[in-house]
Amino acid sequence: MEHGRLEDAKARREWDTPMYRLAVAQLDRTAQQMDLDPNIWERLRMPQRAHVVSFPFRRDDYDTVETVFGYRVQHLLTMGPTKGGIRFDVDVDLGEVTALAMWMSWKCALMGLPFGGAKGGVRVDSDALSRTERQRLTRRFTMEIIDVIGPDRDIPAPDLGTDQQVMAWIMDTYSQQRGHAVPGVVTGKPIELGGSEGRREATGRGVVVCVEAACRHLGIDLEGARVAIQGYGNVGATAARLVDRLGARVVAVSDVRGGTTHPGGLELDNVDRWIADNRYLTGYPGGDDVTNGELLELDCDILIPAAVQNQITSHNAERVKPRLIVEGANGPTTLEADAILADRGVFVVPDVLANAGGVTVSYFEWVQGLQQFFWSEDEVNRRLRDLMQRAFGDTLALSTAEGVDLRTAALMRGIRRVTEAKRRRGVFP
Ligand code: GLU
Repeated sequence: MEHGRLEDAKARREWDTPMYRLAVAQLDRTAQQMDLDPNIWERLRMPQRAHVVSFPFRRDDYDTVETVFGYRVQHLLTMGPTKGGIRFDVDVDLGEVTALAMWMSWKCALMGLPFGGAKGGVRVDSDALSRTERQRLTRRFTMEIIDVIGPDRDIPAPDLGTDQQVMAWIMDTYSQQRGHAVPGVVTGKPIELGGSEGRREATGRGVVVCVEAACRHLGIDLEGARVAIQGYGNVGATAARLVDRLGARVVAVSDVRGGTTHPGGLELDNVDRWIADNRYLTGYPGGDDVTNGELLELDCDILIPAAVQNQITSHNAERVKPRLIVEGANGPTTLEADAILADRGVFVVPDVLANAGGVTVSYFEWVQGLQQFFWSEDEVNRRLRDLMQRAFGDTLALSTAEGVDLRTAALMRGIRRVTEAKRRRGVFP
């Protein structure tokens, strides 16, 4: 395919960051293998809409007004409203948000959800925000993107550095402007505002459904298996609890500053108590301190990267020990690392499949909201499990049939569905 045109080259420079390059390289590789129509391929490499805003943000000391940057990128408008999280993080830029939006497109299509992919974010250090600063930042950012979001348009959700409370403020700001309550504008809301039972744990729960299914496939006994988890936020902490309950040993967990390891298995109650008192894991007396880099190279059977992107790279992929990696984070493995892991026979359950539990229960939340009829936690978890198991089984079957790894098979499934939809809708005018 020709990508040499001047406008294209210019446009792409604005997006050109390592994460965007990874997302496009994954798309290109998969497109080649599935012999994708070049007209559709070209369309999918760029987001359909990208909003960049800058706005003033007043710190608590009242004298400091910073100019901060925010983004909302809608990759694919073909499938229905767009869907994807909002992150508050120092690394947020147009390329990162676009890559994440593209992955949301594949993730939703793979799971059969009626959404295209979107993502948003504000470039800010989330850890350093007070509650009042976080609220002001959220409300002003919501105002900046108010015309592009909406329950039939584009529906944000939590991601790195945001949570249920941030969703509540987005919902409130949006509703104030519309003059009536609009709970459907976000998912991942508190239960009292129309959130779904089970949404908070959904991503971690989906990760663990994939861990169980992959263990069955590989013949790994989860009982007593050693699991290392990078990240102990919403996804990592839930996954840790659930694998622990299934009889596995959580041998390491970490946060932004570093982690803790105990070869015999960590006492998660004690870990949680330590975090409640000390905020960060470093110094936890029930284990030895490790860096985030060291954690990835620990002796273990299963590794769950559940923190941030770009963690397993050509620099450490040779030294990663487990037979199974289940990606809770988005984009934790580079393309070069993928090849090394494949050569070494490491089985990788890719992000777009492994962490799809979050957006799947977001979909359930949206549906429950539309019907004003709410399900029990058991029902949410059961439906989540069904959809995840089915997606895992179908992706595994495709990877066997096509002789490709699970990531390529997952992307093929997603891209194929999107391609069919685009073809059916045709080109306007
Ligand atoms: N931020 C999550 C993700 O990356 C969830 C998105 C959603 O629920 O819309 O999948």
